[in-house]
Amino acid sequence: MECVFCKIINKEIPAEIVFEDEDILAFKDIHPVAPVHILIIPKKHIASINDLEEGDIELVGKMIFQAKGIAKNFDISQKGYKLLIRTGEWGGQEVSHIHLHLIGGAKLSEDIRPII
Ligand code: 5GP
Ligand code: ZN
Repeated sequence: MECVFCKIINKEIPAEIVFEDEDILAFKDIHPVAPVHILIIPKKHIASINDLEEGDIELVGKMIFQAKGIAKNFDISQKGYKLLIRTGEWGGQEVSHIHLHLIGGAKLSEDIRPII
């Protein structure tokens, strides 16, 4: 499998993992755009939002639910953060394995704009 995120899931390439369970992996983005920048991915390879099936609904819900927990662990819940899923070429998606960006630790709309 060529997918870089599947390689991270399989521990073939290293990543700073911050959360893992049987369905979900979360790790620090290699090029953070904010003090906290975590990628939350399903262990199942799904290329993009466009490839979601009805059976994936619970999995996507888990990704967002874990984002809440990770935000709390990184102490950014109170101040707030952004969740972002890019999709396809015009959406700027670079890695073809669904990933939820959790971005925070700064006042994003005023201090940091490059992500959107
Ligand atoms: P996209 O642009 O597809 O929404 O986001 C891809 C993200 O994955 C980028 O923010 C990029 O920095 C990150 N990324 C790409 N390759 C790696 C990698 O090998 N390790 C980690 N930790 N992050 C990666
Ligand atoms: Zn993959």
